[in-house]
Amino acid sequence: MSSIFYIKKEIVEVCKQMYFRGLVSATDGNVSARIGEKEIIITPSNKSKGSIEVQDLVVIDLDGKKISGSLQPSGEYRMHLMVYKEREDVNAVVHAHPPYATAFSVAGIPLMECVLPEVVLSLGGVPLTEYATLYTEELPNSLKKYITDFNAFLLKNHGVVTIGSTVTSAYHRLEKVEHLAQVIYLARNLGKVDVLSKQQFESLMKLREELGFKGPLPQCNTCEKSCVLK
Ligand SMILES: [Zn+2]
Repeated sequence: MSSIFYIKKEIVEVCKQMYFRGLVSATDGNVSARIGEKEIIITPSNKSKGSIEVQDLVVIDLDGKKISGSLQPSGEYRMHLMVYKEREDVNAVVHAHPPYATAFSVAGIPLMECVLPEVVLSLGGVPLTEYATLYTEELPNSLKKYITDFNAFLLKNHGVVTIGSTVTSAYHRLEKVEHLAQVIYLARNLGKVDVLSKQQFESLMKLREELGFKGPLPQCNTCEKSCVLK
């Protein structure tokens, strides 16, 4: 695991990327990283991700108790803690409200079709969770059902959560989800979405093994339904 200082710098850099790329507005979004068996660093509440600094970050334990930091931890800390408890391979969680992906969550459409090969290889499907009230146990509970099988999630009428072995890899997944949502939105507007065939999907899975991609196997609705787009 990288040094704590490096991880803090990484979180700040990702926050600024999220804000200046329009993936969050105002004080929305939160980012965290695991820094030991029982501690995580998390962004504070009520602070724009565009102006966040290393000294603003808060350290909490896995029970949500503050260890250090002058600000309060993000109100969504329960969701972050649930991820670290359920997935030992995950060291970072990113949450944002990117417009296209959030629009899919509002429309009730998960991103579960195998459309872009690169996304199938590295990200897999993005399921849609049930609606949950902010800042309550409802949010982690809505995510829990999907947490072992996926690395990215659409939160119903809310936004996106992505996870990874590093802050940067979790953030890259966020960018990928938003890009995928934008491409599918545009293709739907063009009137046609061609999904990959079962054979094309299987070739990608072979490649995935050869390239050593880790994490849950990509899942999609289309292959389960013999690659027929519903
Ligand atoms: Zn949110």
